Amino acid sequence: MSKRGQIIHSKRFMDGRITPEELHQSMAFPIGAKCRLCGRPPMIAIRSYGEEAEMIKRDQNLRIFATVDPEKYASMLIKTKAGRFIRIGEVYACSHCAPQAEREAAHHPSWCFVDIDKGPGPDKIVSGYRGPSILDQ
Ligand SMILES: [Zn+2]
Repeated sequence: MSKRGQIIHSKRFMDGRITPEELHQSMAFPIGAKCRLCGRPPMIAIRSYGEEAEMIKRDQNLRIFATVDPEKYASMLIKTKAGRFIRIGEVYACSHCAPQAEREAAHHPSWCFVDIDKGPGPDKIVSGYRGPSILDQ
């Protein structure tokens, strides 16, 4: 048995059994997650967040929810330089529909920001927030 093949293959990600993109696809999304536009397996996740104070102003139930289930509420919160934000939603898009989904995600009210997780690409995380990045603490 020749060792040469093994050396060559050891340089490939996971012995070439799976690409980094496929691994990301199989690990990063909930079971059954589909592209929002075409239903294919997703490649990127688009998460949107709203300013906590603004969200509570718009939905009084949030205040009740925070009292009833503080743990769940805390898990939806993220702290940023610009204050506390609540995760509003998460949608997925396949590599084919990603540009359109990203364009749609760019339209959001000023009290929201959008975080796009592209997985193992060269530009890993792109913030759709208009202004300086608030995720770097
Ligand atoms: Zn798609």
